[in-house]
Amino acid sequence: MTNTPAKELVTNEQGAVIGVIAEREGEKISVMAKRAVVLTSGGFEYNEAMKQSFLPCGPFYALGSPGNTGDGIIMAQKVGAALWHMAAIACPLGFKAPEYEAAFDVMLFGDRFIYVDIDGKRFANETELEMHEMWRTISFFDSARVCYPRLPTYAIFDDVTRRKGPLAQKMGVNMDYEWSLDNSKEIAKGWISRGKTMRELAQTISVDESTLEDTVKRYNESCRTGVDADFSRSKESLGPIGKAPYYAITLWPSLLNTQGGPRRDKNAMVLNYEGTPISRLYSAGELGSLWGFLYEAAGNLTECLAFGRIAGRNAAAEKPW
Ligand SMILES: Cc1cc2nc3c(=O)[nH]c(=O)nc-3n(C[C@H](O)[C@H](O)[C@H](O)COP(=O)(O)OP(=O)(O)OC[C@H]3O[C@@H](n4cnc5c(N)ncnc54)[C@H](O)[C@@H]3O)c2cc1C
Repeated sequence: MTNTPAKELVTNEQGAVIGVIAEREGEKISVMAKRAVVLTSGGFEYNEAMKQSFLPCGPFYALGSPGNTGDGIIMAQKVGAALWHMAAIACPLGFKAPEYEAAFDVMLFGDRFIYVDIDGKRFANETELEMHEMWRTISFFDSARVCYPRLPTYAIFDDVTRRKGPLAQKMGVNMDYEWSLDNSKEIAKGWISRGKTMRELAQTISVDESTLEDTVKRYNESCRTGVDADFSRSKESLGPIGKAPYYAITLWPSLLNTQGGPRRDKNAMVLNYEGTPISRLYSAGELGSLWGFLYEAAGNLTECLAFGRIAGRNAAAEKPW
């Protein structure tokens, strides 16, 4: 049943969900359920229209499966499901190469780096941004200038950091790509920008040259004194951006996953807008996850296991119709 996406839920006259219509090689096929239907089709990480409607800014790229196009949300809505947590996401920073559909998760080793905005200015304590919530800091909207000055964000670093290890983590769907250990392959590809001076680097990423130079000077002075008066980076984490050459990588919000979808109850039943379960329709996983405003790390997989079991047991306990 691979390459056979479900397209529609089928209901009987009483509104109970009794099967699905799927599509295989352009042909529609009907699959009748014996007892119930359990939706587990993931989030809407690759549905541009949904991301534009429900998330606060854009672009949002994604690290996970390109199959997550929000189909389950549309199917559930068509049978009257209520939606919840549509604006809730888990989202670190990543690099998006044009030739790859998914983004690469980027984390810099050591402490000799800073993040700057499109003006070349620091905006946060780089070492204390919680991975799942990074998107909140970089989605800041400047209402006076009517722009998102941290989209994209640039990580600025020196040659010591460049040699410390691959910037991209082995996670997500781009696992087949072998990121070079010293990042040299990605510099040659133009994925990482290089400058012989900070001004040259600024030109390459189209950031104001004097501002970036001043930002790095001020940051390096903080490293010398051990006091980051701007963003309170701890003394231990203040690693200076040392000798040239200098590097930059462009970072965007890159979704681990979305949490939104059809609302479910403790029995894993999908609810309508009156709060009543839709007969014989269950869900589990990140499709309508229980995680709302603040995501607790590792909560998604735990929820998959817990609600997968609950949904499976309860669906199997339905009377065959
Ligand atoms: C890189 C990365 C790291 C993560 N790390 C963690 C972690 O450490 N801890 C944690 O708790 N969570 C983590 N998560 C989140 C977690 O992995 C997901 O929330 C979880 O895997 C969701 O499982 P799921 O079964 O609900 O959906 P998915 O695993 O996304 O599966 C949904 C499947 O449904 C398929 N599908 C979509 N539409 C249809 C359709 N119409 N018909 C048929 N099939 C369809 C999709 O192709 C996909 O295969 C991470 C996510 C990523 C991307």
